[in-house]
Amino acid sequence: RKQMSYDEFYSRDLHQRIVAAKRKNGSNAKILAGASGTWQYNYDPAKIEEYDLYGIVEGDLGGIGPEMDGTGGRFFDALINGEMETANPFKKREFKVEIKEFARDGRKYHGRFIHCWDQPSVDEIPNIINPSMHGQVEVMRGCGRGCKFCDVTLRPLRYYPVEKVQKEIEINMKYGGLKNAWVHSDDIFVYGLNPRTTKNMQPNREAIEELFKGIMATGVEHTNPTHGTLAGAIADERLVPNVSKIIKASPSNHIGIQCGFETGSIRLIGKYADRKLAPYQPAEWHWVVKNAVKTLNENYWVPAFTIIMGLNNDETPEDSWETIRLIHELENEQPDSKFTVTPLTFVPIGLLENSAFFDIGNSIDAPKLGVMYKTWQHNFKHGIQKFMRKVGRENPIKNLFFAALARSLGGVPLGAMERYARKKGLEHERVIETIKAKYW
Ligand code: SF4
Repeated sequence: RKQMSYDEFYSRDLHQRIVAAKRKNGSNAKILAGASGTWQYNYDPAKIEEYDLYGIVEGDLGGIGPEMDGTGGRFFDALINGEMETANPFKKREFKVEIKEFARDGRKYHGRFIHCWDQPSVDEIPNIINPSMHGQVEVMRGCGRGCKFCDVTLRPLRYYPVEKVQKEIEINMKYGGLKNAWVHSDDIFVYGLNPRTTKNMQPNREAIEELFKGIMATGVEHTNPTHGTLAGAIADERLVPNVSKIIKASPSNHIGIQCGFETGSIRLIGKYADRKLAPYQPAEWHWVVKNAVKTLNENYWVPAFTIIMGLNNDETPEDSWETIRLIHELENEQPDSKFTVTPLTFVPIGLLENSAFFDIGNSIDAPKLGVMYKTWQHNFKHGIQKFMRKVGRENPIKNLFFAALARSLGGVPLGAMERYARKKGLEHERVIETIKAKYW
């Protein structure tokens, strides 16, 4: 049975409707796809053909497309004039066109990738005019920490002034009835600093505090940043406590934040993401993770970690075990800590764009299966089960229901991985048994 993700299902549905409408009307419209998920066409180029895509637009154009008198207008003029078909790929121009060829399952696929060089200044980025999804508002673009597996960091850093952020929140409140602001950045603790002149990425606490004061002044009841680094969270010991007071974090107002855990391997973090740790050193990575979890939790923040499996196809069994051990140490040393861990597979973007995708189906060795198993076990035991117990504690019937729900949410994937390990053989089974015996 072919598995299909929720995203793929709805994306396919949308494209099928577009293609059907085009056919029905005998239209010659050119279909473009853009935004940050376009790397997925490199992974599955058959979709370019299936969705009848004329081009895949990469770069910042998505944010300025509506401005017809600016880059957006020039882009559509070039498109209508057929310049995307005749562009010289070796000549530097505003829109670089690259025809890529992919070999998959014994046949060739082609895709027209259009790169937009333009990197709009903050003044050129238009404010939203309609409510955004879940109250999300951008507060900066770029990052500056330089992780090799990331393309955000290749873009210049731009910070939105507080007034611009407030205007967007007001749109969400006025037209969307929203009472929250979901503050998007790729590392909120970088907001306001100049990585060229700021020693060791020391956060600009004053700028971050002013930003959140401005956000709360709009009258929102809840705000939380989308992403932040663990090192940034503890680099200034007053930062998280002060921001927590401003945004009224409390036991009944937890602040969720997504943080890149990436790997427990000191070797890998040093090789691919050393500045993610600044002002700390790679050798201090485990200390950084543990202290950041403690600081965040103490101030009612709950980090949602992501891990990269098969980082640059360079993850050794020992690297995987380091990740498993670090999660377990966190659980053991801070039994009441709150965090989730989600394993993702390596995608070749940023400075590693010429590497190969990590092929989980064929390249998952026993220790990597162990990483996946450990993350699910953690989320099951320390997240789902605890949460469900809390929800159902006042009512025995509810309790039974939520206990069963917890078992199926967590237990089913764990059981599936155990069956997979049995099928794969002794080495995989041994890894699962070791986790159960030593790292549970
Ligand atoms: S900290 Fe995050 S956003 Fe910044 S470069 Fe690293 S992975 Fe990218």
